Amino acid sequence: TAATDALDRLTAVVPDFPTPGILFRDLTPVFADAAALRAVIDELIAPFAGSFDVIAGVEARGFVLAAAAAVLADTGVVMIRKAGKLPRPTVSRHYSLEYGTATLELHSDELPPGARVLLVDDVLATGGTLEASLGLLDDAGLVAAGVSVVLELTELNGRPRIGGVPFATLQQV
Ligand code: 5GP
Repeated sequence: TAATDALDRLTAVVPDFPTPGILFRDLTPVFADAAALRAVIDELIAPFAGSFDVIAGVEARGFVLAAAAAVLADTGVVMIRKAGKLPRPTVSRHYSLEYGTATLELHSDELPPGARVLLVDDVLATGGTLEASLGLLDDAGLVAAGVSVVLELTELNGRPRIGGVPFATLQQV
C-alpha cells in the first residue's frame, strides 16, 4: 500500500535507543513527509470508518496521529497524557513498562458516556501502554471502538493485552 511503501522507505531504525540492546523504530521521518503522513493517516482510520465518534491519542507520538486522523475523519480528539499534565479531574491507570512504571490519565468528563473511541498510537510493543489506555476509556464510561497503530513489534507479543477490541496495524516487524 502507499502507507507501507512510505514506512519501508522512511522509518529510521536506531540501534541502542533509548537503552543498549533496544532497536528503536523512529517514525518521525514519516510524519515529516506530506505524502507519507497522509497515506499513513488514511490507512490508520480506514478499517474503522463509521464505527467511532472520537479519536484518542497517547502522549506524545499518538497525539500527532490522533489530531491528523480526527481532522480527516471529522471528529474531535482527546489526549491520554502522562501523570500530572491534565488540569481537571481525571481517571488514572498505573502500569508496568519494560523498565519501571508509568501512569496515564484522561479527563473523566471530556466525552459523553458511551461515546465510541478509536484509540491510536505509533507502535504496539509490549502492549502495556494501550492496555492502560483501554482501561482509562473503560473508567471514563467510554466504549473502545478499536485500536489502530502504525507498527506492531510482533516479538513483544502485545496483542493479547488489547483483549477483544478490534485491532489494526499498518505494518508488522
Ligand atoms: P508498550 O507499552 O506497548 O511496550 O510500548 C508502547 C509505547 O512505547 C508506545 O507509546 C510507543 O510509542 C513506544 N515505543 C516502544 N518501542 C518503540 C519503538 O521501537 N519505536 C517507537 N517509535 N516507539 C516505541
